[in-house]
Amino acid sequence: MLDGIGLLATGSAEYGDGSPLGEIADAALVADDGRVAWVGPRQQAPAADTRVDAGGRCVLPGFVDSHSHLVFAGDRSAEFDARMAGRPYEAGGIRTTVAATRAASDEELAANLTRLVAEMRRQGTTTVEIKSGYGLTVRDEARALALAKQHTDETTFLGAHVVPAEYAGDMPGYVELVTGEMLDACVPHARWIDVFCERAAFDADAARTILTAGMARGLQARIHANQLGPGLGVQLAGELGAASADHCTYLSDADVDVLASSETVATLLPGVEFSTRSPYPDARRLLDSGVTVALATDCNPGSCFTSSMPFCIALAVREMRMTPAEAVWSATVGGATALRRTDVGRLIPGAPADLVVLDAPSYVHLAYRPGVPLVAQAWQAGRPASTPRLR
Ligand SMILES: [Zn+2]
Repeated sequence: MLDGIGLLATGSAEYGDGSPLGEIADAALVADDGRVAWVGPRQQAPAADTRVDAGGRCVLPGFVDSHSHLVFAGDRSAEFDARMAGRPYEAGGIRTTVAATRAASDEELAANLTRLVAEMRRQGTTTVEIKSGYGLTVRDEARALALAKQHTDETTFLGAHVVPAEYAGDMPGYVELVTGEMLDACVPHARWIDVFCERAAFDADAARTILTAGMARGLQARIHANQLGPGLGVQLAGELGAASADHCTYLSDADVDVLASSETVATLLPGVEFSTRSPYPDARRLLDSGVTVALATDCNPGSCFTSSMPFCIALAVREMRMTPAEAVWSATVGGATALRRTDVGRLIPGAPADLVVLDAPSYVHLAYRPGVPLVAQAWQAGRPASTPRLR
């Protein structure tokens, strides 16, 4: 039993104060066999064999980071440096990482990935989605997904990240590879399929062809949409029933309507706007329109190299006018919804006991004290995490 919890955010309106975060003050949580068995006011807690005192700290569900690109080699800090000196972000920088990733050994890629996953866990992430997309050959995409699968079941085939240099000027040829031999090699290692649907990458017709091919093989769709400018990505997400449209920076009223009236989650990645010095998506407009919003890091070596969900929560509150409660919900339940998971992202009976103990009396401190390492402990399956595998 985790006792002496100053404030418990269950992530379910059926518990506690009835708010979306389901808050319970002066709470306890009983875990049994890795799962939550009971949550409620401390005074009403059932007897338990062992007792850990949270000392009045806040406890919330482990973060669900539903968008990351962690399988890569190389460093692009010089590109970031140049961008901060005034050069605009261009999607072409991805090709630099592709070259370094292809040249790396399996051991190098695995070591880099393991380091980043451990870094995420220290910051409270207990579920992570990991994409391929820096291999862009049959062998290198399958290799990236096989490595990612050692850390999570939420693996995403992103062969359609950019058209690689050897296919320059031959978009149809590359789409044929992605939907053919590359898809064959990647299906066994992936749950999801994704496309970078953007003027500089894949147009809506190519994206539809690729996502449809993946769905026919049992993968589920998600999409990078409307990041760098207006486009058809969100409309396509609605048309195909994608689980999530990610970025959503440039949206028309019709795009917002699609998101509000479909099962597609809008996943916002404010670390990208921070790191590219770009305008933030309008989270307030989405929330006020009834859209389900998730927050994720988009951790990648080019446009946003943060692995920190607490940092993204602080950005969402400060820069996108979300309340702290909305931001925490989006970083937990919202992320789970974007991955079509109903088990993680909540601390309710039956859910895995994946949780974060904050060195603070309230989750508000995640935005109130930006940049401060407030995650005292992350628990996975009812115990302080020690192994690097995330859900
Ligand atoms: Zn991304």
